[in-house]
Amino acid sequence: MGCLVQKYGGTSVGDVERIRNVARRALKARAAGHDVVLVVSAMAGETNRLLGLVRAVTPTPNEREQDVVVATGEQVAVGLVALAIQAEGGEATSFLAHQVRIVTDAVHGKARIQHIDAGALAQTLRAGRVAVVAGFQGTDDEGNITTLGRGGSDTTAVALAAALGAEACEIYTDVLGVYTADPNICPSARKLSRISYEEMLELASLGAKVLQIRSVEFAMKYRVPLWVKSSFSEDPGTLVCAEDAAMEQVVVSGIAHDRNQARITLRDVPDNPGVASRIFGALSDRHIEVDIIVQTAAREGRADLSFTVNKPDLAAAREVMASLVGELGITSVESDGQIAKVSIVGVGMRNHAGVAARMFRVLAAEGINIQMISTSEIKVSCVVDEKYTELAVRSLHTEFGLDAAASEGIRG
Ligand code: ADP
Ligand code: ASP
Ligand code: MG
Repeated sequence: MGCLVQKYGGTSVGDVERIRNVARRALKARAAGHDVVLVVSAMAGETNRLLGLVRAVTPTPNEREQDVVVATGEQVAVGLVALAIQAEGGEATSFLAHQVRIVTDAVHGKARIQHIDAGALAQTLRAGRVAVVAGFQGTDDEGNITTLGRGGSDTTAVALAAALGAEACEIYTDVLGVYTADPNICPSARKLSRISYEEMLELASLGAKVLQIRSVEFAMKYRVPLWVKSSFSEDPGTLVCAEDAAMEQVVVSGIAHDRNQARITLRDVPDNPGVASRIFGALSDRHIEVDIIVQTAAREGRADLSFTVNKPDLAAAREVMASLVGELGITSVESDGQIAKVSIVGVGMRNHAGVAARMFRVLAAEGINIQMISTSEIKVSCVVDEKYTELAVRSLHTEFGLDAAASEGIRG
């Protein structure tokens, strides 16, 4: 039997009893004949606590030092999990990113994995030991500690599975699998038994934090069979895999929401060649990702320009815009952090007209104003006032026929 990578998220290692549960699960997979690599996140709430400490010291932390602090949550967790495996009579060795050698670029806080040298892990596996690897962290070429962005342990796990040629990667979390919408805000959400890489990628990039986007990209690129399961249940979970005929043939397969966005509006931007390039170039130089962009038609040579960024980047994005006000003659920079992006996703949309209109009709019927719209072949997103998030998700879920029978539960 081959190698199996299992990733346990924060709630799955949230206390000592849960850590013992992880140890028992790992040993069970080992007893079934697998080489087992565990990827472990910080204990629930720990990364937020560490970020809180950083912010208490300074509101504008140096990103290298912030990574040094926030990466420690995973160090504690891997040590405890390795000890728990040993306490259960198994053999295990913990690894931090620099010991495996998970090499990333030097973009602190959102580093990307460049390569993995899994030699040390392979040796541990050959010796029959469970390898317990810290998620979320990496090392750059110069040996600095980096982190992969929130939810980054998912990406560590899938990247390791690809590097080791593992037969599967299992992501253990606090729900039974991937649902048609976040089961914690949509009580009628249904668990999917399978979902295509493409749809999962879309759901993840539209805010379904059950998997980090980069983890799905890696799985798709290297064809890693990716399972999402609950660490508190024996339910088979959801398989993320290549699209096939056995998948449900529906127009919309899921609803995603993202409250982690903020909108900036620039008034009276000059309507000249090079202006958009100047604005978005300056944001990109600061590694600030921009999502939806909307520009009004120009009047008297000036237009209004709105765009969204991730909420934690709002202050930095405002700073960048303030530095351009004089140069471009922009009359005001406004921002709104109380927004949410609600999206419908489905490969079935490719063959159906009128799906977006149906979405707009549902939102209108609930009295929800649409602030921005963005579409692609397999998704439609609307930016709305944050207070309408649940209402929008639930009404769309019902409209597109996704509601489950009342008896289906979400947890193990
Ligand atoms: P972990 O700490 O295990 O990595 P996360 O909190 O990062 O767990 O991800 C699991 C959470 O993702 C669930 O508790 C759920 O609220 C959320 N989620 C959002 N969208 C979905 C979805 N479509 N299916 C399942 N879970 C979802
Ligand atoms: N501990 C990190 C976070 O809270 C990474 C992860 O959980 O995947 O974002
Ligand atoms: Mg997560």
